[in-house]
Amino acid sequence: MTNKKLFLRAAKVIPSGVNSPVRAFKSVGGTPVFVKKAAGPYLWDADGKRYLDFCASWGPMIFGHAPKGLVRTLAREAAGGTSFGAATEREVLMAEAVRRFFPSMQKIRMTSSGTEAVMSAVRLARGFTGRDKIVKIDGGYHGHVDSLLVKAGSGGATFGIPDSAGIPKELAKLTLTVPFNDVPALETIFKKQGTSIAAFILEPIPANMGVVLPARGYLEAARRITKKHGSLLIFDEVITGFRVHAGGAQKKFGVTPDLTCLGKIMGGGLPAAAFGGRREVMDCLAPAGPVYQAGTLSGNPLAMAAGLWMMSEMKKTALRASLEKKSARFLNDLQSLINESNYPLRLNVQGSMFTLFFTASPVLDYAGAKTSDTKAYARYFHACLKRGLYLAPSQFEANFISTAHSEAHLKTALGIFRAALSETFGKS
Ligand code: PMP
Repeated sequence: MTNKKLFLRAAKVIPSGVNSPVRAFKSVGGTPVFVKKAAGPYLWDADGKRYLDFCASWGPMIFGHAPKGLVRTLAREAAGGTSFGAATEREVLMAEAVRRFFPSMQKIRMTSSGTEAVMSAVRLARGFTGRDKIVKIDGGYHGHVDSLLVKAGSGGATFGIPDSAGIPKELAKLTLTVPFNDVPALETIFKKQGTSIAAFILEPIPANMGVVLPARGYLEAARRITKKHGSLLIFDEVITGFRVHAGGAQKKFGVTPDLTCLGKIMGGGLPAAAFGGRREVMDCLAPAGPVYQAGTLSGNPLAMAAGLWMMSEMKKTALRASLEKKSARFLNDLQSLINESNYPLRLNVQGSMFTLFFTASPVLDYAGAKTSDTKAYARYFHACLKRGLYLAPSQFEANFISTAHSEAHLKTALGIFRAALSETFGKS
């Protein structure tokens, strides 16, 4: 069956034909790709077309698709049972392995999605502090948690619905937002309402308004201000964890949060995510403490097996170093292409993740990201797609390079970007 036929059929049984909004290609137009299989740096769709993949399942596939070791592990472990709803050795090994990379996560609970991890961390912060308000960043995305779908990035930014219907106003009122990289705004909000703020949650390097880098000292200021007011600092490292550094953005910048949320890479494409942090905070969770949090599939044996395989690969520092090096070379070349062309573009880069913003202004926060020409992005997206390169189907997302992208793949990608950009700007 073709992409088109599948999409028509899907639309009859699945809202908008997809299980997560941005997959529908609504903001870039056209028929969504229905993926049939993936291997290494490639995806194949239902039409049989092959793509070099830079979306990487929105981040998890840092070692490319279907790495042999992971596939072998899963096949072997599946034979021993796929869910027990009971404690396992693998969960213990996984928590220990994650903590070795993230020492600030003194205790860790597994969940099945990033959304669940964040939702649990927010409830825990409220339960621990006895306060109700949460501060987040304009354009920050933390999954579809009710309290955090306020001025949200990712799909919220893509579809212009940053404040979802279905969330009681009384709840949304408890979520305060500040622009990223704005220390005075953070100081002001804490000065006025600090005694009722449970936590400040942020992606330390926002990736859901596209990639935006923290200004020097911003994360340190976030740490200082939250501490001063007795609020918790929550780093949502669902994207940055294991990506910008094996120990996440907190290791890269040397700023230690009270709680951390992880997902994506830690499960290598299986539904594994986690939240964790200071022992005395985590010990407020049930059954020892009063904050309820649970999950039938939490710590699922296959997700943990995948996670343990990912953790063992993470230890290969040479592999990471080579990813960083080839990413830097590739993205430098892309920057040179932009410089030579004079196109109104801004390339934001952090290691192996990047966003090409279709704007001439520097992008330092959500307001900057929103100056992008999303119509031009849509043209560029399709110009890449038809040449066999798959990007995130929205301007307000990150793209990812994996260890499976060889220098030759990246050279091919650069050629495609060059052609796609001249098509986008009407030069071919
Ligand atoms: N936090 C961040 C920073 C994310 O990027 C995402 C997903 N893109 C989530 C949380 C939610 O994770 P999930 O989609 O696994 O629920």
